[in-house]
Amino acid sequence: MEDAERKMQFLYTLRSRGVTDRAVLTAMEKIDRSQFIRHYFTDRAYDDMPLPIACGQTISQPSVVGLMSQALQVSPRDKVLEVGTGSGYQAAILSQLARRVYTVDRHKRLVTEAREVFERLGLANITAFTADGSHGLPDQAPFDRILVTAAAEDPPGPLLAQLKIGGIMVLPVGQSDTVQSLIRVTRRDEGFDYDELRPVRFVPLVEGLGKDG
Ligand code: SAH
Repeated sequence: MEDAERKMQFLYTLRSRGVTDRAVLTAMEKIDRSQFIRHYFTDRAYDDMPLPIACGQTISQPSVVGLMSQALQVSPRDKVLEVGTGSGYQAAILSQLARRVYTVDRHKRLVTEAREVFERLGLANITAFTADGSHGLPDQAPFDRILVTAAAEDPPGPLLAQLKIGGIMVLPVGQSDTVQSLIRVTRRDEGFDYDELRPVRFVPLVEGLGKDG
C-alpha cells in the first residue's frame, strides 16, 4: 500500500472508532507514528494496534491515543502534564494541541529516546523528565490538563492536587491484569466530577524509578 493510502486508511479507522475532533485528527495526520517505534515494526505504524517498545512497555493503540486526547479537551493555551512518556507518541500529539507539554516516565532510557525523537521532529514545546509521575511534577504545577497513560487503582492524590480549578485529568483506573476504565476527572471550585468513558487496557502505574534509572 502507498504511504498516502495507508494514512487515509489510518484516518478513516480513527474516525470510525470515534475520534472526530478536528484538531486531534490533524495532529495525528501530521505526526508520523513510525518515528516512535522500533524499525522492525515500522510496517505496522499505521495499524490500529498497540506495539512493544523498550523496557517491556507499549506504545498505545492510535485510536486510544485519539480518544484520550479528545477527552482531555486541550486548548492552545494549556499547560499539560503527561505521566508515562513511553515512546513519546502521545506527548507529540499533545504538543500540537497545547502550549506546553511536560511528560515524565520512570524509565530513563525511554525518556532519553523520546527526547531524541522530539528534537528530530522539532517539537520544541515538550519537556521530558525521568521521574515517578505518581507524584506529579510539583515544580511545574498546577496544570490545565493531566493525562495518565498507565493504570492506577485510583487517581493519585498528588495529581488531583496539581490540577487547576476547571482543569481536566484523563486516566485509566483499575487493576492492572483486568479491563480498566478510562475516566475523566474535572476539578470544580469544590471537589471533583468523575465521568466514566470506556473500557481500556494499559500497563500499570508503578511506583519508583525503573532499574535503568
Ligand atoms: N504514552 C506512551 C505509552 C505509555 S506506556 C506512548 O505514547 O507511547 C506506559 C508508560 O508509563 C510506560 O513507559 C511506563 O514506564 C510508564 N510508567 C509507569 N509507571 C510510571 C510512573 N509511576 N511514573 C512515570 N511513568 C510511569
